[in-house]
Amino acid sequence: MQTVYLDNAATTRIETRVLQEMLPFLESEYGNASSIHQMGRATNVAVEEAREKIARAIGASPSEIIFTSGGTESNNAVIKGVVKATGKKHIVTSRIEHHAVLHPIQYGRKDGLRATYLDVKPHGCVTAEQVRDAITEETGLVSLMHVNNEIGSINPIAEIAAVCNEKGVLLHSDTVQSTGKLPVNVDELGVDFLSISGHKIHGPKGVGVLYVRDGSPWKSWMEGGSQERRRRGGTLNVPGIVGLGKAVEIATTEMEQNTAHLEELSTLLVSGLKDAFPDLIAFNGCPDRGVPYIINCSFPLDEERSLDGEMLLLNLDIEGICVSNGSACTSGAVEASHVLTALGMVTPTAKSSVRFSLSKYNTKEEMTRVVASLKNIIDRMMKSQPA
Ligand SMILES: *Cc1c(COP(=O)(O)O)cnc(C)c1O
Repeated sequence: MQTVYLDNAATTRIETRVLQEMLPFLESEYGNASSIHQMGRATNVAVEEAREKIARAIGASPSEIIFTSGGTESNNAVIKGVVKATGKKHIVTSRIEHHAVLHPIQYGRKDGLRATYLDVKPHGCVTAEQVRDAITEETGLVSLMHVNNEIGSINPIAEIAAVCNEKGVLLHSDTVQSTGKLPVNVDELGVDFLSISGHKIHGPKGVGVLYVRDGSPWKSWMEGGSQERRRRGGTLNVPGIVGLGKAVEIATTEMEQNTAHLEELSTLLVSGLKDAFPDLIAFNGCPDRGVPYIINCSFPLDEERSLDGEMLLLNLDIEGICVSNGSACTSGAVEASHVLTALGMVTPTAKSSVRFSLSKYNTKEEMTRVVASLKNIIDRMMKSQPA
């Protein structure tokens, strides 16, 4: 039985062209990119080429690209680095950010950091007006994700940027779920900082980018060597960086065809699910206005009860279908997702949620198979539900 992988918001399969580009740097081209000799110079050239590719893809200049270990590090670096540079102790963010934003903010509480968590009901996005109302004299940073990783909602970053600009407040956006999938241009979005991760776009794990607009007040938050112009110490992950450069390049140049394919798949999946479960299924977030590659739904039975999401997941797994409930980082924990709870969802419904996250590698046949499997599983589960 072929596995159907529908957990691409957790991580993605590496693209063959990316792997090919990386292999020499895992084998014979092992020089330290900071070394002066020929082995170092060769890898340094490859790193700078990757930097240029990424800069070009997001409309930045190469000096504004800092390589990190991934989305989590980039988000930490922004939150901690802006507080360090500005001394301002208030952040505007939302209830549905990734934990890599929420947890660094919570950690900062012991040093007096305070945050306003914008409400996202009912569709999972904030408005520029909410941001305007939340900004105070003490606000140093607004941090709002571009695309939410659990429900696929899209924040109006460019409109938010206009408000931040007017108020003289820095703006960070976690674009881990949008770079390479939606147009992401730092000037069109108007951001001062953004975070990118390799493994969500068919690149390698453990590598990412922090974009810092030239001249933005920001200080490195970790001590170490003088790599990345003293902004991020640590020997450069050359194979990862080369792979990330290639992944961003491919995703950007092939975005149009990938988006068309994903729209076709999501239309098929959503209509299939609606037809199979007309009275049962509820879509979470904004399925009409969100991205086509993240679909989140629940199966509420009545006011108090829902189908058991964990059970759904396990049964799908038995049939070779990999999906997720909420984010991978919180699975294993029995709590309802903070994102679904923030949408105003009651706990049982939140706990019955299933997230289908698609990639360019998925097919129409897979969508049909998923709907059929889910129909069998749910019919079986309904029979064993107490009335
Ligand atoms: C996956 C993810 C991250 C974390 O990225 P890593 O590279 O895994 O550290 C951050 N933000 C969002 C929105 C994500 O989906």
